[in-house]
Amino acid sequence: MNLRRVLVGDFVTNCYILTFSDRAVLIDPGDAFEKLERFCNGLPVTDILLTHGHLDHTAALGDFCDRYSPRVWMHKQDEDYLNDDILRAPASYPDPAWRRDLFATDFVNDGEEILLGQGEEALKLQVIHTPGHTPGSVCYYDEGNGFLFSGDTLFKGAEGRTDFPRSDWTDIKRSLKKLSLLPARTAVYPGHGFQTTIGGEPWIGEDWN
Ligand SMILES: [Zn+2]
Repeated sequence: MNLRRVLVGDFVTNCYILTFSDRAVLIDPGDAFEKLERFCNGLPVTDILLTHGHLDHTAALGDFCDRYSPRVWMHKQDEDYLNDDILRAPASYPDPAWRRDLFATDFVNDGEEILLGQGEEALKLQVIHTPGHTPGSVCYYDEGNGFLFSGDTLFKGAEGRTDFPRSDWTDIKRSLKKLSLLPARTAVYPGHGFQTTIGGEPWIGEDWN
């Protein structure tokens, strides 16, 4: 498995592309369908994992669904965000071209495992429900390889915004505390900005305001 970070869209979202020998898997295809597709090296996109429903993480989803009919994984509590212009684009996302129907095929719950790829290269991602930025925000955790896709819950040096509709400050604090229990060496791949580690963000385990 090969992991690649690709920057997309006006909010410079990190889309992560996992390529296996026979397939590609995307996390948060936030824009730039053609650019992302090029990084898939001609492999079919079988799965798309969403960390939450904001448009800067989903805007290329429709194009990938049209082309590949992948399984689309997300938490049920963010389903409303996919097609609600106020919920999905709270920061006045500039491009009206995204007004199209988006949908998920599989709803994940806390603790559930998603199996990606086959045979020796199979990868198991555990779902960690981390509400706060949105009620259905999730992180995807690979215990074996020691990395975490943290969406907009945890960035290098900061937590995700909680000034949006349905955001909750108390929830995100609780979610970050939960993440602080992961091994310190765990690599954190956030939805925006640079990667970090759990140990590099000691404040997430503290009581802070
Ligand atoms: Zn967001």
